[in-house]
Amino acid sequence: MMMENLTWDEFEKIREEISTVIIPIGSIEAHGKHLPLNTDVLAPIEISKRVEGEVRKKGGDILIAPPIPYGHSFVLNVYPGTINVKAETLRAYVKDVIEEFAKEGFRRIILMNGHGGNIYPLIEASEKVAENFDVEVWIINWWIDFREDILSVCSSQGHAGEDETSVILAIKPELVKMDKAKGEKRTTKVRRIRRDIGLELFPDGVNDDPSKATKDKGEIILDIVSKKITKLILGEKDAY
Ligand SMILES: [Zn+2]
Repeated sequence: MMMENLTWDEFEKIREEISTVIIPIGSIEAHGKHLPLNTDVLAPIEISKRVEGEVRKKGGDILIAPPIPYGHSFVLNVYPGTINVKAETLRAYVKDVIEEFAKEGFRRIILMNGHGGNIYPLIEASEKVAENFDVEVWIINWWIDFREDILSVCSSQGHAGEDETSVILAIKPELVKMDKAKGEKRTTKVRRIRRDIGLELFPDGVNDDPSKATKDKGEIILDIVSKKITKLILGEKDAY
């Protein structure tokens, strides 16, 4: 059920019947020269929709809230098109949004996150709400939580890398420029924070080799991830 299509009185009825709401959260940022700026919004929306479909197949229902597209992206802010929201702004904004859903009566609020820079602000926002409301907040970072599954499909993963590029090929192939899909994995032993560190760690906005990405790999990843999340939501025993 897409919240954005409901009227207020339809919503009023639905909140009585549905206890779980998913809020997709992304970022608008550089993803190499081959992926669109809203890559991190597309993936969590698609996963949320697939989860909804799977839950329905099993006789249940969940609500998908409108997405929060802008996220915290300090590192990639060295590239044009990255619209960085400060961590404290995102934390306060997301806290208000979660709190509103808690007040509307939802007992399980799932933040379907598409972007690494959002993780700490989302945890802090969720903790603040959980202190005052009787809710459980889930933060799903699909590329981390299901890393093992992803690496059974892809030879590597990373920002604008093989996994993410495959997923966007499965969602919106017309937006992917595979002739420009190149890059390499770069890591550092410890976290280093510097204004222009993104130029070093994410050359052209990439940190992985995306050249082996395919639509089929993306389909498999989306399928596994959404089915596993569905099992978690429904509390099925073999969810892991
Ligand atoms: Zn991304």
